[in-house]
Amino acid sequence: MAKRIAVVTGGMGGIGHAISRELHDQGIRVIAAYSRKHEAALAWQEEQKKEGYNFDIAYADVTDFQSCADMIKKIETEIGPIDILVNNAGITRDHACCKMSKEDWDIVINTDLSSIFYVTRHAVNGMKERNYGRIINISSINGQKGQYGQVNYSAAKAGIHGFTKALALEVAKHHITVNTISPGYVATDMVMAVPEEIRAKIIAQIPMGRLAEPEEVAHVVTFLADEKNSYITGANIAINGGHYML
Ligand code: NDP
Repeated sequence: MAKRIAVVTGGMGGIGHAISRELHDQGIRVIAAYSRKHEAALAWQEEQKKEGYNFDIAYADVTDFQSCADMIKKIETEIGPIDILVNNAGITRDHACCKMSKEDWDIVINTDLSSIFYVTRHAVNGMKERNYGRIINISSINGQKGQYGQVNYSAAKAGIHGFTKALALEVAKHHITVNTISPGYVATDMVMAVPEEIRAKIIAQIPMGRLAEPEEVAHVVTFLADEKNSYITGANIAINGGHYML
């Protein structure tokens, strides 16, 4: 049987990098999608190769519907049918609501929420035709509990799970599962950019007493992406060290 094919948006970032590697470890052919400069993406690909990871790479600006369409078409034409889609790209632009600019609102909603539709819209039809698919959307604890200074991010991340549940209903009959993962605070550049004293306060609230490692998130992605995992759909799996329990 041909290797399963996975696309991971933000596949070279902190969590995405770990997801790409863990899927690759499972014998899956992984396309790491990027928006950074092409030279930087090639350098990342080369670096991975030296460590035994052979990734394909593909450019898309996930805030641009046509760019996502072009990427999916190129992958399906040049590499093959997409079995697994991990919608992981995301950003933060934090400010209290009373000071937030429209630009910071728009860019977070577009990058973290609209992107999920933009990419999935083009990948899901092929999955339906083939009667198989795994779609995994990366949300956040802050979409579940809200976070001071993040009305944009919390709204986008909460919206993701609405998308997951609605799409799960639409595609269940095609043996496609759609799930959300909501990580708590993970030790990546996104969290390391938070001032140290604020980070210490966050860690003090986590029962596990530490940040998550990207690999801990990647492990659950791989679990949901597994062929045998055929009956979990519309779920929202929290990975937060006990930080927030629904
Ligand atoms: P990083 O900043 O390390 O990675 C973000 C990724 O998103 C990058 O690979 C980047 O690609 C990609 N990206 C950003 N903008 C665009 C765009 N316009 N088009 C395409 N890709 C884009 O963040 P993390 O790895 O920490 O976060 C990954 C996901 O996990 C995000 O959705 C985040 O919200 C979520 N998350 C993170 C948590 C954390 O604590 N770190 C906690 C909970 C959720 P490139 O570099 O190529 O431009």
